[in-house]
Amino acid sequence: MHIVVLGGGPGGYAAAFEAARAGAQVTLIERERLGGTCLNWGCIPTKTILRSAHIVADTREAAAFGLNAAVASVDVAALRARKERVVDELVGQVEATATRLKVRIVPGAGRLTGPKTVTVALGGGGEETIVGDALILATGSAVFKLPSIDHSLEGVWTSDNAVALTEIPKTIVIIGGGVIGLEFACAYAAFGSVVTVVELMEQVLPGNDKRVVKQTQAALEELGVTFHLGDAVERIERVDGRMSSTLRSGVVLESDIVMSAVGRIPNSAGLGFPEAGIEMDRAAVKVDPYFRTNVEGVYAIGDLIGGMMLAHVAEEEGVIAARNAVAELKGVGAGAHLESVRYDCIPACVYTFPEVAVVGSGRDAAKERGVDVVQATAKFAANGKALGEGESGGFVQVVAENGTGRIVGCQIVGPHAVETIHEIAVAMKHDLTVRQLAETVHAHPTVSEVIRMACADAAGKCGC
Ligand code: FAD
Repeated sequence: MHIVVLGGGPGGYAAAFEAARAGAQVTLIERERLGGTCLNWGCIPTKTILRSAHIVADTREAAAFGLNAAVASVDVAALRARKERVVDELVGQVEATATRLKVRIVPGAGRLTGPKTVTVALGGGGEETIVGDALILATGSAVFKLPSIDHSLEGVWTSDNAVALTEIPKTIVIIGGGVIGLEFACAYAAFGSVVTVVELMEQVLPGNDKRVVKQTQAALEELGVTFHLGDAVERIERVDGRMSSTLRSGVVLESDIVMSAVGRIPNSAGLGFPEAGIEMDRAAVKVDPYFRTNVEGVYAIGDLIGGMMLAHVAEEEGVIAARNAVAELKGVGAGAHLESVRYDCIPACVYTFPEVAVVGSGRDAAKERGVDVVQATAKFAANGKALGEGESGGFVQVVAENGTGRIVGCQIVGPHAVETIHEIAVAMKHDLTVRQLAETVHAHPTVSEVIRMACADAAGKCGC
């Protein structure tokens, strides 16, 4: 049983490792470093940079904590070196796991040349054609580039330039108020840059609950970030070594750098997918709930299939696709015991200051689907741990089904949100109720007590 995986990001390497653990012979093809966007240009570099930014922001508040301290300057080279050490460490661990599980790594760029056939332009020169019994496509995504912006212009960045950390710009215009745009806005503002965010929609973090959006925008404004909402950058020029961005409203913004953070696009161009008969939905590969494409024995996962473009989603899809491929190759497929992913209980996080974490539906989205829900909110302002830490802004908002108390969703803005959201994710995955969480003793003092308070309030409101 030979399973070939194309792309070694969190989706691809998770699929490869799962298939190897299930006893398959596995070949993993990767054109750059293992770890994909997540380890090399995404989650890990950004969170490493944000940690330094957080220390700067905290130090600015030092006096309020009875400390005399200041950050004299930011050493960009040292920041970059630290980020690279963290990335190298994690990539090394992925490589070591591949070796331990006897996954064959083929370095090079692969392209489909038959139904389960990949021809690889090898990194060291030459070509190799690899045929598998099953093929998992995991080529991820790339930065989406607005056609109206000339990305070859010096001073125009994407997140790839930003994580390369060559400089901290004195002034930066960020196009896009989504997750990536706001995380960089936070980091640069903390480092002392003058940051302006331009967002096409009337709100930041489009698609999120109104209260979450309002609180997050207010927190970023407090850090010094300026927003132009419901506006768009129509023209960018480089004038005398500086960038000049003209907005649709007529406003002209001057800056050292313009960073475009308007999203990502599945990476499928030129890889031979449609030619091999694979059905596409624009750039994304179309799959069924078991990650099967329309071509027998070919699966696709991660950013390449669109949907929730998150590393933990890609990883879960990779694991499930590998299990399904093994099951089908062993002949236990054909509808029997194929697994899928429950997207409704996967958390999504934004690592701004304060953090944002959401899982499931907000109240309005649940109501639109016809679910009768109640919503309860508890604030960090009355929480001892949050007050002690000086991070008492924000709230926990729980949405539960009226009557049963089954949890439908939760939104947290506040300290440690990206960690504490998992209590709700576990509860949702296992169909627990707000009453059951409210009856679970939470250690004191912890910020998680606020989740318990919100659940207790929701339990009262929904009569469960
Ligand atoms: P990728 O990670 O993109 O991996 C695809 C791999 O395939 C790459 O290594 C690529 O080199 C390889 N490949 C492509 N084509 C070929 C080919 N022809 N031959 C061989 N190899 C090929 N997600 C989170 O969950 N949390 C975060 O905090 C977070 N932060 C982010 C911050 C930024 C700035 C960015 C850009 C993204 C962030 N993401 C985050 C998203 C996350 O990185 C992606 O969702 C995740 O990496 C997708 O995994 P994947 O395996 O599907 O694809």
